[in-house]
Amino acid sequence: MAHNKKHKQLVFTVKDRCRVCFTCVRECPVKAIKIINGQAEVISERCIGCGNCVRVCRQKAKVFLRQTDEVKVLLKSRSRVIACVAPSFPAEFTEIEDHRIFVGMVKALGFDLVTEVAFGADMVAVAYKALYNGNNGKGIISSDCPAVVYYVEQYQPELIPNLAPLVSPMVAVARFLKVKYGDDSQVVFVGPCIAKKSESDEIDHALTFNELRELFTDFNIVVENVEARDFDPPHAGMGAIFPVSHGLLQNMNVKHDITKGDVVVAEGRVNFKDALSEFANGGLHARHLELLCCEGCIMGPGMTPNGQKYIRRSCISNYVSQKLETINMPEWHIDMAEAGNIDLTAHFEAMDRRTQNPSTQKVAEVLRSMGKETADDYLDCGACGYDSCIEHAIAVVQGVAENEMCLPYTIEQLHDSIEKINSSNHELENAREALKQSEKLAHMGQLSAGIAHELNNPLGVITMYSNLLLDEVKDETMRNDLQLIVEQADRCRKIVGGLLNFARKNQVRLVETDLEKFVARSLQSIVLTDDIVVKIDVDMSDPIVFLDPDQMMQVLTNLEKNAVEAMPDGGEITINLTEHGEEVEISISDTGTGISNDNMEKVFTPFFTTKEVGKGTGLGLPLCYGIVKMHKGKINIVSNDNPQKGPTGTTFVIRLPRNP
Ligand code: ADP
Ligand code: MG
Repeated sequence: MAHNKKHKQLVFTVKDRCRVCFTCVRECPVKAIKIINGQAEVISERCIGCGNCVRVCRQKAKVFLRQTDEVKVLLKSRSRVIACVAPSFPAEFTEIEDHRIFVGMVKALGFDLVTEVAFGADMVAVAYKALYNGNNGKGIISSDCPAVVYYVEQYQPELIPNLAPLVSPMVAVARFLKVKYGDDSQVVFVGPCIAKKSESDEIDHALTFNELRELFTDFNIVVENVEARDFDPPHAGMGAIFPVSHGLLQNMNVKHDITKGDVVVAEGRVNFKDALSEFANGGLHARHLELLCCEGCIMGPGMTPNGQKYIRRSCISNYVSQKLETINMPEWHIDMAEAGNIDLTAHFEAMDRRTQNPSTQKVAEVLRSMGKETADDYLDCGACGYDSCIEHAIAVVQGVAENEMCLPYTIEQLHDSIEKINSSNHELENAREALKQSEKLAHMGQLSAGIAHELNNPLGVITMYSNLLLDEVKDETMRNDLQLIVEQADRCRKIVGGLLNFARKNQVRLVETDLEKFVARSLQSIVLTDDIVVKIDVDMSDPIVFLDPDQMMQVLTNLEKNAVEAMPDGGEITINLTEHGEEVEISISDTGTGISNDNMEKVFTPFFTTKEVGKGTGLGLPLCYGIVKMHKGKINIVSNDNPQKGPTGTTFVIRLPRNP
């Protein structure tokens, strides 16, 4: 009879519950868990159904295929439905002392017959023994754990000839039952294992103990309201000890001699793989390998989590010793004789799922992208779920893992991001300051434009009439008074003119200009006393720049005037012209009083002046600032007002693009 595999997806991820701890990745012996966008996903075709991920996930984000609904439908049907209970049931239902109560509960669900898979273990034990005695030294891998069989078929197919060509106890008993009770009987396996769900088409459904408990709850079946019933035949013998490790061996009556080391027993996701690869490499010479993918049938993923292993073991031992006291041996021998006619052959087929390792160059690239340049950078910390950085990198290349799974890398990224956020915060702060300043200037501009406009006409009238009066009046005292009025009105006109300049629309009219000549011209309109020396230093290969001559002339004269006014007792003005790539720099230095630290921030604010009333308007520097900005340039001040720190003086530095 063919041993057909059903290709079912056995394990699923509940995305909402997954907290991406990578524990499932670590526990998966075949790395069938993919992490994409920070979410774990089972790669169905790679999964061997061992259920280790289900067992370890604290968040219950891994669930397995449930078949209770199908079984409910089956129980309602007219078919004869036979429950086949795995021998580990005493380890799950530790609260039920009498196994006959347990059988009564299963019956109460509507099963026509409740039988023991352990009889199947008795059947295969005989076959294994024959194999063991007649295998001429060829190592045999037991094929009773379906996950191990899947593993060999998919990841070590070269070992298929070593798999014992025998069906599992579950399939063996199913074959027997179909002969005994009719081929149309429906067989439902109940056990601790998820992989059983896709082991064979000869089983109609496979439930876990978990699901059985669910059915008990749904049908409201409790210990108190059921009748004690015995298992239906065939009754098992020693096969009942099968779930305790080395069970099959004890069952086979093989007293394996530790000193010979020809029998290897390994369980758990790491051990079974190690045993297989050592065996495949030829280093391990064993006659028999008894392997399990999980922590054993009494700790299977289909059982209630967090069970106590040794209590469970002793429950099985107790059950078996009780059973052996009451067993009807003649009946057992008759059943076994009948079973001897049943073919227990199993066939295995290679379904190679091994992936090709990507090129070392690609792996190195991924490692580098995680900041791992040399072997010294490989921490192999295992936080990602992979045993080594290289394995992780291979998985990244294969598209089943992400860089972010690397904890040291992610921490570093986090540090970088914090730094970036800090520096962009700083830039934001600067931009906000600049914005505040230009808003202030814009408001001032509007206000002053309004005032200046209103004052211009009355001022014109005052100037005109006072001049007329000055022409007519002969009285000397009165003429002096009128002279004063004319002078002061003139001053007012200049202030108003300054205000209008400041408020002018943001427009520049660029003209090709020789900067050297331009600066020399600016000095002509400044009143210089004899005690002030002016020096111009030019270090430019090309003096041509594009600027608005009217406006830039105001900038230069304002700065020069300020310099003169800062040196009442004389001094030196130095103007430097230099070029820096596509920019030119004009720096105007004086040896004057300097600007105090407190005032440094205020000098560009309109109407800020330290000069006596009538002398300063506080509009010069705001105007310069506006004009330089319109030329897409920058203006900076370096100043010292403390003679103890060195010679006092101020330097205004203007940088302009040669062609804005
Ligand atoms: P005002 O010259 O009318 O006072 P400004 O806007 O030109 O207005 O300058 C504002 C203030 O900046 C001045 O009052 C002065 O305190 C300071 N200041 C400007 N230039 C210089 C300089 N070269 N040396 C010292 N202080 C200066
Ligand atoms: Mg000034």
